[in-house]
Amino acid sequence: MSATVPCELCVQDGGLLVWRSDKLRVIRAVGDAQSTDHPAFYRVVWNAHVAEWTDLPPPDRSHLMQAVAKVETVLREALQPAKVNLASLGNVVPHLHWHVIARFDWDARWPAPVWAPAVREVSDAASRLAVPLTELDARVAAVLQTG
Ligand SMILES: [Zn+2]
Repeated sequence: MSATVPCELCVQDGGLLVWRSDKLRVIRAVGDAQSTDHPAFYRVVWNAHVAEWTDLPPPDRSHLMQAVAKVETVLREALQPAKVNLASLGNVVPHLHWHVIARFDWDARWPAPVWAPAVREVSDAASRLAVPLTELDARVAAVLQTG
């Protein structure tokens, strides 16, 4: 990154911090249309600044994907989503992170990606979830903490 344009995931958590270790953190996305419409929207963020998946040595890749799998498992068990979307793009913020998003056939962009234009109005997405978001956060943190 240029010294004059600090990477936002180097200087801030990037959302609501759910759990953190020395290597990575899990945040829940908040404050934009995607996270309002798709409230069970987590990101697993590698703490150190690396841009690409293969910048990580293989043991760290495995460690990161285990964390992604744990988040996905919590979402599946708690919410029974129609699908879990996993994505690593980084076009806007080129700091390695994985999106883990529970999707539902009623959600505002189903079956398109969450970054597509909305296709329906869903004003109460969070309240439609089987588990309140604070409880979901607690379950995600608990599963990561137990290793
Ligand atoms: Zn960064």
